[in-house]
Amino acid sequence: MPTKMIEVKNLQKKFKNNVVLKEITEHVDQGQVICVIGPSGAGKSTFLRCLNALEQPSSGQVLFEGQNLVGLDDKQLDQIRQKMGMVFQGFNLFPSMTVLKNIMIAPIKVKKTSAEDAKQTAMKLLAKVGLANKANQYPDQLSGGQKQRVAIARALAMDPAVMLFDEPTSALDPEMVEEVLKVMRDLADSGMTMVVVTHEMGFAKEVADQIWFMADGYIQETGQPDDFFDHPTSPRAQEFLKKIL
Ligand code: ADP
Ligand code: MG
Repeated sequence: MPTKMIEVKNLQKKFKNNVVLKEITEHVDQGQVICVIGPSGAGKSTFLRCLNALEQPSSGQVLFEGQNLVGLDDKQLDQIRQKMGMVFQGFNLFPSMTVLKNIMIAPIKVKKTSAEDAKQTAMKLLAKVGLANKANQYPDQLSGGQKQRVAIARALAMDPAVMLFDEPTSALDPEMVEEVLKVMRDLADSGMTMVVVTHEMGFAKEVADQIWFMADGYIQETGQPDDFFDHPTSPRAQEFLKKIL
């Protein structure tokens, strides 16, 4: 039996009386790559933010490695969030710090890693994302694709158990999308557990173990990429794919 890394049970999320997530029950196994796709406004970002407790569910449960996140205090949540790397559409790098510092800061501040160890890890990760030669540059000296690769390295520096991506390539110029997807593909190949909200259907088809199709606050359909893209069963997915493919 695969180990369940994340479990979502009857998750509901509302903002005032806007029910954004209606009733979601799913799980992510260790080592699995899930691509979440669906139209804008479907609730994808909200769902991802519930997974690492940036949003509290209105009802239902989110479990990480068997532990229910609902009801934990901030300190306990911080502990758990350390194990969940998150990469957003905007890169949110610290503009006043070099690339190297950006990657070193959280392990030093949060995990009390020594500066020497943090630097060594950061350099290793920069090499992994193909940016070893940018260590001493500042974020505004980098292209969007390079910034996003630094953001991925920064998340990895905390040695997370799972990586959550919210449309990591949506803000990039087209010619920079592929370099970021390559880093993500390598990460998937290395066995990282990943939940990726994306509009990159080629990536989803090639890399995902499972597609979760979201619309109207529900996961309408899940399936292996070939099945999903070739034979979507839900009317909402059929309609969505017809528009984009
Ligand atoms: P997606 O990422 O699929 O485009 P979102 O999760 O961003 O969808 O948004 C789903 C719905 O939730 C939208 O109607 C949005 O306006 C609403 N929403 C998201 N975050 C908030 C918030 N913090 N406060 C109020 N409404 C929100
Ligand atoms: Mg979104």
